Amino acid sequence: MSRSVLVTGGNRGIGAAIATAFVEGGDKVAVTYRSGEPPEGVFGVRCDVTDTASVEAAVDEVRSQQGPVEVLVANAGIARDALFLGMAEQEFADVIDTNLMGSVRAVKAVVTDMVRARWGRIILVGSTTAFWGGAGVTNYASSKSALVGLARSLAWELGPRKITVNVVYPGLIETEMISSMSAKSREHVLANTPLKRVGTPQEVATAVRFLADDGAGYITGALVPVSGGNGMGH
Ligand code: NDP
Repeated sequence: MSRSVLVTGGNRGIGAAIATAFVEGGDKVAVTYRSGEPPEGVFGVRCDVTDTASVEAAVDEVRSQQGPVEVLVANAGIARDALFLGMAEQEFADVIDTNLMGSVRAVKAVVTDMVRARWGRIILVGSTTAFWGGAGVTNYASSKSALVGLARSLAWELGPRKITVNVVYPGLIETEMISSMSAKSREHVLANTPLKRVGTPQEVATAVRFLADDGAGYITGALVPVSGGNGMGH
């Protein structure tokens, strides 16, 4: 079955791996991007998830190109780490605006079509940080833990329409996002990771594709870790 899939922030990192995995599964795949290029075989739409009009325009373009979005992966995200005492209010707000509100805008833009179709898959990309917190990540942890409440409340609202809403939460994954992380911080995370290694974007994509599958239709409001066991138990 070929579905219309949209991945936000799909030009690189985890989002690009997710988009490629759906292409390999035979789906029609679109990504939003601000910089770089979309992966091969994928329809790219320019979009900034902090801008509602930009998200709505992107979803309109995707609808014209490949039909209403049936599978949404809200993946676009940023980190702006700083200790809370020194963190500017704007640094906090920017992370919430991208990670939480960007996901909200993406869901808002696609959900009416899903309700009409009486079928849909919404997958939000969270983080183990949502549960552990950490020094320097008050903004990021707040944004990612809010996705849990968003997903679980949407699961109640949309369940009767056969729309599932789940969170995949990665641990440490090798992408640009963690490139500036110190060796000491990496070691600290790996010490608390049973599998003792960093994950790959493809491993996150595997979980996302599973949740989007027709056979995963009885899974909603779930938090699915892809973290080597780090932060398990939610
Ligand atoms: P990257 O930094 O490699 O990629 C982030 C993606 O988000 C890029 O495509 C980027 O686009 C996009 N993006 C950021 N801000 C916006 C915006 N305002 N509008 C549109 N797109 C935007 O990160 P990852 O691939 O590692 O992260 C993907 C997701 O996974 C994020 O939500 C992140 O929080 C989460 N995650 C990552 C972990 C890791 O260890 N890597 C761990 C846990 C969660 P552009 O290229 O244009 O900037």
